[in-house]
Amino acid sequence: MIEEWTEQVKNQVNTIEKLAKYINVSDDEKEAINTLKTKWGTSPYFASLMDKDDPDCPIRKQVIPSLKEQVNEYGMKNYLVWKENRATEEIRPDSIARQYHDRVAFTVVQVCGIYCRHCFRKELVVDQNLQLNFDVEEGLAWIAEHSEIRDVLITGGDPLLLSDEKLGYLIAKLREMPHIEMIRIGSRLPIVLPHRITDGLKKAIGGYHRIPVWINTQCNHPKEITEETAKAVYELMSCGINVGNQAVLLKGINDDVDTFRELHQKLLRIRIRPYYVFYCEPAPGMDHFRTPVEKGAELIRDALRGHTTGLAQPMYVLATNIGKIPLMPDYYIVDKNKKEYTLRNYKGEFTKIPNMPE
Ligand code: SF4
Repeated sequence: MIEEWTEQVKNQVNTIEKLAKYINVSDDEKEAINTLKTKWGTSPYFASLMDKDDPDCPIRKQVIPSLKEQVNEYGMKNYLVWKENRATEEIRPDSIARQYHDRVAFTVVQVCGIYCRHCFRKELVVDQNLQLNFDVEEGLAWIAEHSEIRDVLITGGDPLLLSDEKLGYLIAKLREMPHIEMIRIGSRLPIVLPHRITDGLKKAIGGYHRIPVWINTQCNHPKEITEETAKAVYELMSCGINVGNQAVLLKGINDDVDTFRELHQKLLRIRIRPYYVFYCEPAPGMDHFRTPVEKGAELIRDALRGHTTGLAQPMYVLATNIGKIPLMPDYYIVDKNKKEYTLRNYKGEFTKIPNMPE
C-alpha cells in the first residue's frame, strides 16, 4: 500500500506551476525562483498552510526563494566547515560532526521535507556547493570505535525521510553499542509532513528500550501548528518518544513579542516541549533573516519569562564552532552585598533575599 507521506514526497511543490496551485505567486517570488540556482521545495501539506495572497506569510518566507539571498554582507564563507569543525586534525568520516567530547551529530541523508531558506546547512542541502560523503556504515563503525560517545544526534537533511527499514536498522545498530545511552533525531517532518508518523515508523524507532529516542523538531511560527501536527506528536509520545522544539529566531517571522509567545504556548498545547531558540546562524545568504544577537534574550524577557507557563521557556543559544553559547536575559540580580541580594522580576518589581555565606 502506498502511504500518504511517500505520495507527499513524490509530489513535492518545487516549480512555479505547482506552487501556483496553492498561492498567487508574486513577481518577486517568480524572479527569485528563476534566478537563484538553489534547491527549493515543500511538501504539498506545508504549501497548503501558505497565505494565498500575502508574500509576507511566515510559511512562504521560510520556503520560497528570495532575491535577498544574493546579499551576503554578514554571512561567513565555508560556514559549515567552520561550524562543524570539519577542518580539525581529528580524522572523522564526513557523516560525523563533533563539537563535544561525548556526543556527535551523525548526518545520514541530504534531502529534506522542505528546504528552509534560513537553513544553517544551506551550503550542503540547499545550495549544494559543499559535497560530503554520507556513508552510514562508515559513520556507524566510527561511533562503535569511540566509546566516549554516549549520545548520538541523527541528522540531515531530514533523517525521517529514510524508510522505516533503514531507520530501524540505524537505531538497532546504535542500540547494540554498549556506550550509547541515548539517541536523538533532528527532523522537521512532524511539522512539515506529519503524515510521516505512521505505525511503521513507530515500530521502527519507538517502544520501550534501555536507550531512549528523542525527536527534536523545528517549528518557527504558530501557523505551522495544526490538528495534524498535534496528532503526529501524540502518536510519537504514545510509543515512548519525547518531542522537543528547536525554533530559529527569524526576522519578520517570529521576532515580535506576540508571535513568540503564541508559538511557545501553542507548542505546549500540542505536547511539544520548547527546548531551544537558536540565533539565526551566520551562514551565507541569510542576512535578511538575522536579528541583532540580543533580540532572542529580549524576547525571552518580554514574551515568556514570567508572562507564561515555565514549561514554555526554551533556552536561547548561539550555535558556534565551540558549541552552544546560551544568552539569557540578565535583569534579575540588581545588587548584591554581604547581607542580601536585590532582585527584580519580569514586571520590574523589586525584592530582597538574604545572601548566604559559603
Ligand atoms: S529541514 Fe532542516 S536540514 Fe532541511 S533545509 Fe530545513 S533546517 Fe535545513
